[in-house]
Amino acid sequence: VIVPLVFSSLVVGVAELKDIKKLGKIGLKTFVFYFLTTTFAIILGLAFTNVLKPGSGFTLPTTLKEVKVNEAPNFIDTLINIIPSNPMKSIVDGSMLQIIVFALILGGGLLSLGETKSKPVFAFFDGISNAMISITNGIMKLAPIGVLGLITPVIANNGPKVIIPLIKVIFIVYLASIIHALLVYSSSIKIFTKMKVRTFFRKASTPFFVAFSTASSAGTLPVSMETAEEEMGVSKPIASFVLPLGATINMDGTAIMQGVAVIFVAQAFGINLDFMDYITVIATATMASIGTAGVPGVGLITLSMVFASVGLPVEGIALIMGIDRILDMTRTAVNITGDAVCTTIVAYQNNDFNTDVFNDKECKDELFA
Ligand code: ASP
Repeated sequence: VIVPLVFSSLVVGVAELKDIKKLGKIGLKTFVFYFLTTTFAIILGLAFTNVLKPGSGFTLPTTLKEVKVNEAPNFIDTLINIIPSNPMKSIVDGSMLQIIVFALILGGGLLSLGETKSKPVFAFFDGISNAMISITNGIMKLAPIGVLGLITPVIANNGPKVIIPLIKVIFIVYLASIIHALLVYSSSIKIFTKMKVRTFFRKASTPFFVAFSTASSAGTLPVSMETAEEEMGVSKPIASFVLPLGATINMDGTAIMQGVAVIFVAQAFGINLDFMDYITVIATATMASIGTAGVPGVGLITLSMVFASVGLPVEGIALIMGIDRILDMTRTAVNITGDAVCTTIVAYQNNDFNTDVFNDKECKDELFA
Protein backbone atom coordinates (compact mmCIF):
# COMPACT_ATOMS: atom_id res chain seq x y z
CA VAL A 1 0.00 0.00 0.00
CA ILE A 2 2.81 2.38 0.95
CA VAL A 3 4.45 2.94 -2.44
CA PRO A 4 1.29 3.69 -4.47
CA LEU A 5 -0.14 5.76 -1.61
CA VAL A 6 2.95 7.90 -1.16
CA PHE A 7 3.59 8.22 -4.88
CA SER A 8 0.08 9.20 -5.93
CA SER A 9 -0.53 11.50 -2.95
CA LEU A 10 2.69 13.36 -3.61
CA VAL A 11 1.97 13.77 -7.34
CA VAL A 12 -1.47 15.11 -6.47
CA GLY A 13 -0.08 17.31 -3.66
CA VAL A 14 2.43 18.97 -6.01
CA ALA A 15 0.03 19.25 -8.94
CA GLU A 16 -2.45 20.98 -6.62
CA LEU A 17 0.04 23.79 -6.16
CA LYS A 18 -1.30 25.26 -9.40
CA ASP A 19 -3.17 27.89 -7.41
CA ILE A 20 0.11 29.10 -5.95
CA LYS A 21 1.28 30.01 -9.44
CA LYS A 22 -1.97 31.81 -10.11
CA LEU A 23 -1.87 33.76 -6.87
CA GLY A 24 1.70 35.01 -7.18
CA LYS A 25 2.81 36.79 -4.01
CA ILE A 26 0.04 35.45 -1.79
CA GLY A 27 0.76 31.93 -2.99
CA LEU A 28 4.46 32.32 -2.38
CA LYS A 29 3.93 33.73 1.11
CA THR A 30 1.58 30.88 2.00
CA PHE A 31 3.97 28.27 0.70
CA VAL A 32 6.99 29.75 2.49
CA PHE A 33 5.06 29.95 5.77
CA TYR A 34 3.86 26.36 5.45
CA PHE A 35 7.30 25.14 4.54
CA LEU A 36 9.19 26.93 7.32
CA THR A 37 6.76 26.06 10.11
CA THR A 38 6.73 22.40 9.06
CA THR A 39 10.52 22.28 9.07
CA PHE A 40 10.58 23.84 12.52
CA ALA A 41 7.98 21.32 13.75
CA ILE A 42 10.10 18.35 12.66
CA ILE A 43 13.20 19.79 14.33
CA LEU A 44 11.20 20.27 17.53
CA GLY A 45 10.01 16.65 17.44
CA LEU A 46 13.55 15.39 16.80
CA ALA A 47 15.04 17.54 19.56
CA PHE A 48 12.54 16.67 22.29
CA THR A 49 12.80 12.93 21.63
CA ASN A 50 16.58 13.08 21.63
CA VAL A 51 16.58 14.74 25.02
CA LEU A 52 13.84 12.68 26.68
CA LYS A 53 14.90 9.33 25.11
CA PRO A 54 11.62 7.41 25.34
CA GLY A 55 12.94 4.55 23.20
CA SER A 56 16.15 3.68 25.07
CA GLY A 57 15.82 0.27 26.69
CA PHE A 58 12.45 -0.35 25.02
CA THR A 59 11.56 -4.04 25.04
CA LEU A 60 10.99 -5.00 21.42
CA PRO A 61 8.29 -7.58 20.64
CA THR A 62 9.95 -10.88 19.62
CA THR A 63 8.68 -10.68 16.04
CA LEU A 64 10.30 -7.28 15.61
CA LYS A 65 13.59 -8.43 17.11
CA GLU A 66 14.07 -10.58 14.02
CA VAL A 67 13.50 -7.66 11.68
CA LYS A 68 16.53 -6.96 9.56
CA VAL A 69 17.88 -3.50 10.24
CA ASN A 70 18.84 -1.95 6.94
CA GLU A 71 22.25 -0.52 6.49
CA ALA A 72 21.74 3.25 6.51
CA PRO A 73 22.89 4.53 3.14
CA ASN A 74 25.68 7.08 3.39
CA PHE A 75 24.77 10.63 2.49
CA ILE A 76 26.85 10.96 -0.67
CA ASP A 77 25.39 7.73 -2.05
CA THR A 78 21.94 8.95 -1.11
CA LEU A 79 22.54 12.20 -2.99
CA ILE A 80 23.91 10.46 -6.06
CA ASN A 81 21.12 7.88 -6.08
CA ILE A 82 18.36 10.35 -5.45
CA ILE A 83 17.58 10.77 -9.15
CA PRO A 84 16.27 7.46 -10.42
CA SER A 85 17.77 6.17 -13.66
CA ASN A 86 14.71 3.97 -13.99
CA PRO A 87 11.72 5.25 -12.02
CA MET A 88 9.74 2.05 -12.58
CA LYS A 89 12.56 0.05 -11.02
CA SER A 90 12.56 2.45 -8.02
CA ILE A 91 8.85 1.84 -7.60
CA VAL A 92 9.25 -1.94 -7.82
CA ASP A 93 12.21 -1.87 -5.39
CA GLY A 94 10.43 0.54 -3.05
CA SER A 95 13.37 3.00 -3.07
CA MET A 96 11.59 5.78 -1.22
CA LEU A 97 13.81 8.78 -1.95
CA GLN A 98 13.83 8.01 -5.68
CA ILE A 99 10.09 7.53 -5.62
CA ILE A 100 9.65 10.89 -3.89
CA VAL A 101 11.91 12.64 -6.41
CA PHE A 102 10.09 11.07 -9.34
CA ALA A 103 6.71 12.00 -7.81
CA LEU A 104 7.91 15.61 -7.44
CA ILE A 105 9.14 15.70 -11.03
CA LEU A 106 5.91 14.20 -12.35
CA GLY A 107 3.81 16.56 -10.19
CA GLY A 108 5.92 19.47 -11.49
CA GLY A 109 5.40 18.24 -15.06
CA LEU A 110 1.63 18.21 -14.54
CA LEU A 111 1.82 21.72 -13.05
CA SER A 112 3.58 23.01 -16.15
CA LEU A 113 0.89 21.57 -18.44
CA GLY A 114 -1.85 23.70 -16.98
CA GLU A 115 -5.21 22.57 -15.72
CA THR A 116 -6.91 21.39 -18.92
CA LYS A 117 -4.09 19.24 -20.20
CA SER A 118 -3.16 17.76 -16.84
CA LYS A 119 -6.74 16.94 -15.85
CA PRO A 120 -6.93 13.26 -16.90
CA VAL A 121 -3.59 12.28 -15.37
CA PHE A 122 -4.34 14.32 -12.26
CA ALA A 123 -7.70 12.58 -11.90
CA PHE A 124 -5.99 9.22 -12.35
CA PHE A 125 -3.50 9.81 -9.52
CA ASP A 126 -6.17 11.40 -7.37
CA GLY A 127 -8.24 8.24 -7.85
CA ILE A 128 -5.30 5.98 -6.96
CA SER A 129 -4.57 8.09 -3.90
CA ASN A 130 -8.19 7.88 -2.71
CA ALA A 131 -8.34 4.15 -3.36
CA MET A 132 -5.12 3.63 -1.38
CA ILE A 133 -6.48 5.67 1.51
CA SER A 134 -9.62 3.56 1.48
CA ILE A 135 -7.53 0.35 1.46
CA THR A 136 -5.41 1.78 4.28
CA ASN A 137 -8.54 2.46 6.31
CA GLY A 138 -9.56 -1.16 5.80
CA ILE A 139 -6.16 -2.37 6.97
CA MET A 140 -6.28 -0.01 9.93
CA LYS A 141 -9.49 -1.72 11.05
CA LEU A 142 -7.40 -4.86 11.56
CA ALA A 143 -4.59 -2.94 13.25
CA PRO A 144 -6.05 -3.24 16.79
CA ILE A 145 -5.92 -7.04 16.52
CA GLY A 146 -2.35 -6.89 15.20
CA VAL A 147 -1.27 -4.49 17.92
CA LEU A 148 -2.95 -6.64 20.57
CA GLY A 149 -1.03 -9.68 19.31
CA LEU A 150 2.20 -7.73 19.19
CA ILE A 151 2.05 -6.02 22.56
CA THR A 152 0.29 -8.62 24.77
CA PRO A 153 3.24 -11.05 24.97
CA VAL A 154 5.60 -8.15 25.65
CA ILE A 155 3.52 -7.00 28.61
CA ALA A 156 2.95 -10.59 29.79
CA ASN A 157 6.69 -11.23 29.83
CA ASN A 158 7.89 -7.90 31.19
CA GLY A 159 5.03 -6.39 33.14
CA PRO A 160 3.08 -3.21 32.44
CA LYS A 161 6.17 -1.03 32.85
CA VAL A 162 6.98 -1.61 29.17
CA ILE A 163 4.13 0.72 28.31
CA ILE A 164 5.91 3.64 29.96
CA PRO A 165 7.96 4.47 26.81
CA LEU A 166 4.73 4.74 24.82
CA ILE A 167 3.24 7.05 27.44
CA LYS A 168 6.42 9.11 27.13
CA VAL A 169 5.95 9.28 23.34
CA ILE A 170 2.41 10.62 23.84
CA PHE A 171 3.73 13.13 26.36
CA ILE A 172 6.51 14.31 24.03
CA VAL A 173 4.17 14.75 21.04
CA TYR A 174 1.73 16.76 23.17
CA LEU A 175 4.51 18.82 24.76
CA ALA A 176 6.20 19.59 21.42
CA SER A 177 2.80 20.53 19.96
CA ILE A 178 2.10 23.00 22.78
CA ILE A 179 5.58 24.51 22.48
CA HIS A 180 5.17 24.77 18.70
CA ALA A 181 1.85 26.59 19.12
CA LEU A 182 3.22 28.92 21.78
CA LEU A 183 6.52 29.62 20.10
CA VAL A 184 5.77 29.62 16.39
CA TYR A 185 2.07 30.41 16.18
CA SER A 186 1.86 33.08 18.90
CA SER A 187 4.98 34.85 17.76
CA SER A 188 3.91 34.71 14.10
CA ILE A 189 0.56 36.30 14.94
CA LYS A 190 2.32 38.86 17.10
CA ILE A 191 5.05 39.74 14.62
CA PHE A 192 3.17 39.58 11.33
CA THR A 193 -0.17 41.02 12.45
CA LYS A 194 -0.92 43.53 15.14
CA MET A 195 -3.78 41.44 16.45
CA LYS A 196 -4.18 40.01 19.95
CA VAL A 197 -2.76 36.51 20.28
CA ARG A 198 -5.33 35.60 22.94
CA THR A 199 -8.24 36.57 20.74
CA PHE A 200 -6.75 34.53 17.93
CA PHE A 201 -6.46 31.40 20.04
CA ARG A 202 -9.92 31.87 21.54
CA LYS A 203 -11.44 32.01 18.09
CA ALA A 204 -9.21 29.27 16.68
CA SER A 205 -10.37 26.94 19.46
CA THR A 206 -13.52 25.94 17.58
CA PRO A 207 -11.76 24.32 14.57
CA PHE A 208 -9.05 23.15 16.99
CA PHE A 209 -11.47 20.99 18.95
CA VAL A 210 -13.30 19.77 15.87
CA ALA A 211 -9.92 18.65 14.46
CA PHE A 212 -9.00 17.13 17.81
CA SER A 213 -12.12 15.01 17.95
CA THR A 214 -12.32 14.01 14.27
CA ALA A 215 -8.57 13.61 13.56
CA SER A 216 -9.30 14.85 10.05
CA SER A 217 -8.05 18.13 8.56
CA ALA A 218 -10.25 17.62 5.51
CA GLY A 219 -13.29 17.01 7.71
CA THR A 220 -12.56 20.13 9.74
CA LEU A 221 -12.12 22.35 6.67
CA PRO A 222 -15.72 23.68 6.58
CA VAL A 223 -15.44 24.74 10.24
CA SER A 224 -12.03 26.33 9.62
CA MET A 225 -13.43 28.29 6.68
CA GLU A 226 -16.42 29.50 8.63
CA THR A 227 -14.31 30.53 11.62
CA ALA A 228 -11.76 32.33 9.45
CA GLU A 229 -14.39 34.30 7.56
CA GLU A 230 -16.98 34.96 10.23
CA GLU A 231 -14.96 35.06 13.45
CA MET A 232 -11.53 36.22 12.39
CA GLY A 233 -12.44 38.59 9.59
CA VAL A 234 -10.43 36.90 6.86
CA SER A 235 -11.78 37.64 3.37
CA LYS A 236 -13.43 34.78 1.49
CA PRO A 237 -10.92 34.64 -1.42
CA ILE A 238 -7.96 34.37 0.96
CA ALA A 239 -9.64 31.82 3.24
CA SER A 240 -10.72 29.70 0.31
CA PHE A 241 -7.21 29.56 -1.07
CA VAL A 242 -5.03 29.28 2.05
CA LEU A 243 -7.17 26.89 4.11
CA PRO A 244 -7.87 24.09 1.59
CA LEU A 245 -4.23 24.20 0.51
CA GLY A 246 -3.18 24.01 4.16
CA ALA A 247 -5.52 21.10 4.88
CA THR A 248 -3.81 19.26 2.01
CA ILE A 249 -0.12 20.11 2.37
CA ASN A 250 0.50 21.85 5.70
CA MET A 251 0.87 19.35 8.51
CA ASP A 252 2.98 20.70 11.36
CA GLY A 253 1.45 18.30 13.88
CA THR A 254 2.12 15.34 11.59
CA ALA A 255 5.70 16.57 11.18
CA ILE A 256 6.17 16.73 14.97
CA MET A 257 4.85 13.17 15.34
CA GLN A 258 7.10 11.92 12.54
CA GLY A 259 10.18 13.53 14.10
CA VAL A 260 9.34 11.93 17.44
CA ALA A 261 8.59 8.54 15.85
CA VAL A 262 11.87 8.42 13.91
CA ILE A 263 13.99 8.99 17.00
CA PHE A 264 11.84 6.74 19.19
CA VAL A 265 12.11 3.79 16.81
CA ALA A 266 15.83 4.42 16.20
CA GLN A 267 16.36 4.34 19.97
CA ALA A 268 14.21 1.21 20.38
CA PHE A 269 16.20 -0.65 17.71
CA GLY A 270 19.50 0.79 18.94
CA ILE A 271 20.23 2.52 15.62
CA ASN A 272 22.43 5.61 15.61
CA LEU A 273 21.46 8.41 13.27
CA ASP A 274 24.14 10.84 12.16
CA PHE A 275 23.84 14.48 11.16
CA MET A 276 23.16 13.69 7.51
CA ASP A 277 20.41 11.28 8.54
CA TYR A 278 18.79 14.16 10.40
CA ILE A 279 18.92 16.34 7.31
CA THR A 280 17.39 13.49 5.29
CA VAL A 281 14.65 13.05 7.91
CA ILE A 282 13.84 16.78 7.82
CA ALA A 283 13.66 16.75 4.02
CA THR A 284 11.60 13.57 3.71
CA ALA A 285 9.26 14.44 6.60
CA THR A 286 8.53 17.77 4.87
CA MET A 287 7.65 15.79 1.73
CA ALA A 288 5.64 13.35 3.82
CA SER A 289 3.66 16.24 5.22
CA ILE A 290 2.81 17.36 1.68
CA GLY A 291 1.88 13.80 0.75
CA THR A 292 -0.24 13.17 3.85
CA ALA A 293 -3.95 13.41 3.11
CA GLY A 294 -6.02 15.21 5.74
CA VAL A 295 -7.81 12.12 6.99
CA PRO A 296 -7.23 9.99 10.10
CA GLY A 297 -4.17 7.80 10.29
CA VAL A 298 -2.44 8.66 7.00
CA GLY A 299 0.49 10.34 8.76
CA LEU A 300 1.40 6.94 10.15
CA ILE A 301 1.56 5.46 6.66
CA THR A 302 3.60 8.27 5.10
CA LEU A 303 5.96 7.87 8.06
CA SER A 304 7.21 4.80 6.22
CA MET A 305 8.84 6.97 3.57
CA VAL A 306 10.77 8.83 6.25
CA PHE A 307 11.85 5.56 7.87
CA ALA A 308 12.91 4.06 4.55
CA SER A 309 14.98 7.13 3.66
CA VAL A 310 17.35 6.58 6.60
CA GLY A 311 17.25 2.79 6.70
CA LEU A 312 14.96 2.41 9.75
CA PRO A 313 12.86 -0.77 9.66
CA VAL A 314 9.39 0.09 8.43
CA GLU A 315 8.05 -2.60 10.80
CA GLY A 316 9.00 -0.23 13.64
CA ILE A 317 5.85 1.74 12.84
CA ALA A 318 3.92 -1.09 14.51
CA LEU A 319 5.39 0.05 17.83
CA ILE A 320 3.36 3.23 17.84
CA MET A 321 0.32 1.98 15.94
CA GLY A 322 -1.52 1.26 19.18
CA ILE A 323 -1.30 4.87 20.35
CA ASP A 324 -1.67 6.49 16.95
CA ARG A 325 -5.23 7.72 17.41
CA ILE A 326 -4.21 9.64 20.54
CA LEU A 327 -1.33 11.20 18.59
CA ASP A 328 -3.52 11.79 15.56
CA MET A 329 -6.00 13.88 17.55
CA THR A 330 -3.41 16.37 18.72
CA ARG A 331 -1.44 16.45 15.46
CA THR A 332 -4.57 17.18 13.44
CA ALA A 333 -5.48 20.00 15.85
CA VAL A 334 -2.00 21.47 15.35
CA ASN A 335 -2.25 21.00 11.56
CA ILE A 336 -5.49 22.98 11.51
CA THR A 337 -4.24 25.72 13.83
CA GLY A 338 -1.20 26.24 11.58
CA ASP A 339 -3.52 26.81 8.64
CA ALA A 340 -5.56 29.32 10.66
CA VAL A 341 -2.41 31.24 11.62
CA CYS A 342 -1.28 31.40 8.01
CA THR A 343 -4.62 32.57 6.64
CA THR A 344 -4.82 35.30 9.32
CA ILE A 345 -1.34 36.56 8.50
CA VAL A 346 -1.79 36.47 4.73
CA ALA A 347 -5.17 38.22 4.93
CA TYR A 348 -3.86 40.84 7.36
CA GLN A 349 -0.82 41.67 5.27
CA ASN A 350 -2.87 41.78 2.09
CA ASN A 351 -5.41 44.16 3.61
CA ASP A 352 -8.04 41.49 3.12
CA PHE A 353 -8.87 41.49 6.79
CA ASN A 354 -11.70 42.90 8.87
CA THR A 355 -10.24 44.02 12.21
CA ASP A 356 -13.68 44.70 13.70
CA VAL A 357 -14.81 41.15 13.13
CA PHE A 358 -11.57 39.85 14.64
CA ASN A 359 -11.88 42.05 17.70
CA ASP A 360 -15.56 41.34 18.17
CA LYS A 361 -15.66 39.70 21.59
CA GLU A 362 -18.71 37.69 20.79
CA CYS A 363 -17.63 34.21 20.01
CA LYS A 364 -20.31 32.25 18.21
CA ASP A 365 -19.44 29.09 20.04
CA GLU A 366 -20.68 29.67 23.60
CA LEU A 367 -18.41 27.01 25.00
CA PHE A 368 -15.28 29.03 24.22
CA ALA A 369 -16.70 32.52 24.60
N1 ASP B 1 -5.05 13.03 10.58
C1 ASP B 1 -4.17 14.02 10.06
C2 ASP B 1 -4.96 15.14 9.46
O1 ASP B 1 -6.05 14.94 8.99
C3 ASP B 1 -3.20 13.47 9.06
C4 ASP B 1 -2.27 12.51 9.76
O2 ASP B 1 -2.62 11.33 9.86
O3 ASP B 1 -1.22 12.95 10.22
O4 ASP B 1 -4.50 16.26 9.44
